[in-house]
Amino acid sequence: MSSIAEIFETMEYGPAPESASLADRWLDERDRTMKLFVAGEWREPRSGEHFETTNPANGKPLARLAQAGPRDVEDAVGAARAALAGWRAMGGHARARYLYALARQLQKHSRLFAVLESLDNGKPIRESRDIDIPLAARHFYHHAGWAQLMEAELPGAVPVGVVGQIIPWNFPLLMLSWKIAPALAMGNTVVLKPAEFTSLTALLFADVCREVGLPPGVVNVVTGDGRTGALVVEHPGVDKIAFTGSTEVGRIIRIATAGSGKKLSLELGGKSPFVVFEDADLDSVVEGVVDAIWFNQGQVCCAGSRILAQEGIADRLVAKLRARMETLRVGDPLDKAVDIGAINSPQQLQKIQELVRQGQDEGATLWQPSWSCPQEGCFFPPSLFTDVSPSSVVAQEEIFGPVVVLMTFRTPGEAVELANNTRYGLAASVWTESVNLALDIAPKLVAGTVWINCTNVFDAASGFGGYRESGFGREGGREGLWEYVKPGWQEKKRGQGTGDRGQPATATATENDAAPESESAAAVVPAGPPPIDRTAKLYVGGKQARPDSGYSLPVRGAGGRPLGEVGRGNRKDVRNAVEAAHKAAKWARQTAHNRAQVLFYVAENLAARGEEFARRLAQGSGDEAAAAREVDDAIRRLYTWAAWADKYDGLVHQTPFRNVTLAMNEPLGVLGIVCPDEAPLLGFVSLVAPAVAVGNTVVAVPSERFPLAATDFYQVLDTSDVPGGVVNIVTGLRGELAATLASHDDVDGVWYFGTAEGSTEVERLSAGNMKRTWVDYGRGRDWSAAEQGEGREFLRQATQVKNIWVPYGE
Ligand code: ADP
Repeated sequence: MSSIAEIFETMEYGPAPESASLADRWLDERDRTMKLFVAGEWREPRSGEHFETTNPANGKPLARLAQAGPRDVEDAVGAARAALAGWRAMGGHARARYLYALARQLQKHSRLFAVLESLDNGKPIRESRDIDIPLAARHFYHHAGWAQLMEAELPGAVPVGVVGQIIPWNFPLLMLSWKIAPALAMGNTVVLKPAEFTSLTALLFADVCREVGLPPGVVNVVTGDGRTGALVVEHPGVDKIAFTGSTEVGRIIRIATAGSGKKLSLELGGKSPFVVFEDADLDSVVEGVVDAIWFNQGQVCCAGSRILAQEGIADRLVAKLRARMETLRVGDPLDKAVDIGAINSPQQLQKIQELVRQGQDEGATLWQPSWSCPQEGCFFPPSLFTDVSPSSVVAQEEIFGPVVVLMTFRTPGEAVELANNTRYGLAASVWTESVNLALDIAPKLVAGTVWINCTNVFDAASGFGGYRESGFGREGGREGLWEYVKPGWQEKKRGQGTGDRGQPATATATENDAAPESESAAAVVPAGPPPIDRTAKLYVGGKQARPDSGYSLPVRGAGGRPLGEVGRGNRKDVRNAVEAAHKAAKWARQTAHNRAQVLFYVAENLAARGEEFARRLAQGSGDEAAAAREVDDAIRRLYTWAAWADKYDGLVHQTPFRNVTLAMNEPLGVLGIVCPDEAPLLGFVSLVAPAVAVGNTVVAVPSERFPLAATDFYQVLDTSDVPGGVVNIVTGLRGELAATLASHDDVDGVWYFGTAEGSTEVERLSAGNMKRTWVDYGRGRDWSAAEQGEGREFLRQATQVKNIWVPYGE
């Protein structure tokens, strides 16, 4: 007779399938042919086209989906536009009631949602039932709260308008809720394009919208492949695009929307490090790896796909991992005892297989469990690569499958270097029993989310989103709301109707029209003395520098009178300035108090030379009173930014799972700031000061028309303890310099206040490294008005939020 222990050892799982009957009924009731959801109705696609969606676990067709074409997208955008004013005007409380109703309905129909999701996506029912659907409902509850609080907590903020949202196939309903809940809460209306492989739960959600009586047009769902996505992106009636998907498509969208004035948020790929220190609890680590890379078959943008293990424990960890992998169960997603379901599509399976083959060809060691996967359907076993070189394809490319690589490190410094050795920056996790070590490493990791002794945990209260090529913008938390609002004054200024974006103003002045001095000076008849007596140089690394080109540009004042010359900076000067700005990066690690002191000191020194600056400005504009006012405003503004330096606090989000989440505002890094022509001193100060207040270092391009106030300013910087390299000034042709900054891969963000054409160019060129941009499409602003020239908008543009999940409480 076997002992209980033996029975326990050998006991096989029996099948424990969840019934698909309700989901099948739902599909059958629709004849397995789905329509588009537009203006609150189900509509046949005007394109007349359909395509098939299949169950990846067995390859069988589930339903036919409509491929929305141009006229369908037109209808959906039109419906969203028509619904906008009413949705906005009903106010936060009424919207909160709708969001609450949606959350309740999601919960009431949670089993149907979970089964349909698993059928369509291939994820284990345990995950769709216990993670995806509850979290989706949580997002609607949480944002019902934000709708209620919007007027009180975001005063002056107005909805962006009609939002186009494009989501991937890995978390179909969850991504829908991350997108739709904050958009609706803030008073926007939505056109959602689900992924072509997994549209069913979005259509079920549309049913729920009808059930709760959501006003027609507030949510529209257009199915289709990337072509439909592109139609949404390019539609002129869309005010904002929110996208989650590959970095490749994110880049296409960045370029397609450049200059359109559409607000953009992108949540893209990742290759997230999973850092294990010697003192970590290895049993927790092993379960952590299971959650990091075998959750959702590893098809998770923030999957911990690179294990970095400290040398002393690496072998032990590998042995434990292999033992655990042996016990994982791959199979029917609807089986409640299955850990790993089906890969979402044959295309994705093929991509995983190819990358794994490449890893083997590169010499890495592949380990997979001894059992084999089901033959029918798209399955891939959990896989572990060791002997991996950091530059190999499997260590650098996102595999988006159940495949993890393991590399080793010796010191914490080496761990940070390896962790950050990627173009991405979505998430990271750190495993150690030492709170000091964890909190020393967390700020050094370049990632939008850092999990300490946990991984792949999400909550509506915490923002989620990337650094670097993982995109920009946050979803969730207070920080996520900013993606769906804009300052009210922008609307008033442009005199548009409710929530209307309208077209960006056409530029009146074209840039780069100033020719080098040698070609144009002869044409100018000087109005008499004083003669041109000095050429302002560039200011790089705390020192004056001659322009590499050897060219200068004339500066003319009121009445075209020559006032002096400035250097014509070129690509090489920008490169030097960017290098100097990187070298000054320790500015970010100074205390906020120190940064505040330095800015107060700058204000003090500007005040001491106030009359001189006023004279200088008056030479340019011919208006002495206005010049004196501008200097006063600049001093006041410096005080504002000095004041803010130690007050732009982060938040502590109340996330569940025995955690609190520290939302830290971190500087972007090196910022290129291209200043406006209007208010040559005030514009410069209003932009450069907030950027450095929060720890960025800056390459500033002053007003092209009148750069002398900025070049004089470096004398103020020199005397105010501003470390060399924190502010660099490159004069020259604004469009040319802006383009150089926007295409520079070591620049982390570009602010551009110039023409509409220049704005387009900056947004387009930023796609190279997906840097953050802030441009004004040639609209201009009143820099002396507090509402427009200062405020949290500037601070938000100068920072990115890192959410650090810290174990806390029971
Ligand atoms: P993944 O690698 O996760 O499949 P993709 O970036 O290919 O991600 O797809 C994510 C979403 O973007 C899907 O809904 C897809 O249909 C859509 N999409 C693909 N190409 C484009 C495009 N050129 N413009 C807009 N959306 C697109």
